[in-house]
Amino acid sequence: MNMMIVEDDDGLRKGIPLALAKEEDRFFCCSTLSEARKVLVSQVIDMIILDIGLPDGDGLEFCREIRRQYDMPVLFLTANDMEYDEVAGLNAGADDYITKPFSLAVLRSRIEALRRRWERASVRNEKDSYQIGPFRFCFSEQKFYREQEEIFLSKIEQKLLKILVENERQVLPREVLLERVWGMDSAFMDENALSVAVGRLRNKLFDQKEGTNYIKTVYGVGYKWEVP
Ligand code: CA
Repeated sequence: MNMMIVEDDDGLRKGIPLALAKEEDRFFCCSTLSEARKVLVSQVIDMIILDIGLPDGDGLEFCREIRRQYDMPVLFLTANDMEYDEVAGLNAGADDYITKPFSLAVLRSRIEALRRRWERASVRNEKDSYQIGPFRFCFSEQKFYREQEEIFLSKIEQKLLKILVENERQVLPREVLLERVWGMDSAFMDENALSVAVGRLRNKLFDQKEGTNYIKTVYGVGYKWEVP
């Protein structure tokens, strides 16, 4: 899991990853909202631990901003413990709320609960069949159609398409796509392979009638599957 921690208290920001880390986790630690915004557009983040009072703004506002585009779990960490703040946090779209000071054991168990919920949701999100405009994809059968006509996709194109549609509307950075589509080999890969694969997939999935291409380039970052 990729977790982002947005917290301006140095001790907490450094301590939380030590307390939570599982082998497969990566942490992105930010002390300001502007750093957090940069991480969000350059990484696929699976969970956010978010302070409310931050030097350059309000975590509640940031949470609302996140919810317009993303649906990963968000847990608020805050010194405010009035009932009003709890309601405000949940109204802003957070999944849970924990009041400082807290024990790391409590934080760990809350995070584990969110992690289990997130894992169940990502299983649900895993798409086997998908339909949009004239296109119909069935990933397990490796069948892809434009109306009645079958489209042939290479293994790489199939993987790429699946990741894009499973994360529709989310920007997927180039490094993330390289790693997820080509796996271990990405370190030795020519980044050009990604542009070539995306280009081929785009040609095969161009909706002539509407003039629509669902794969959008986000310059300097990566690609996303855009749903009108
Ligand atoms: Ca703070």
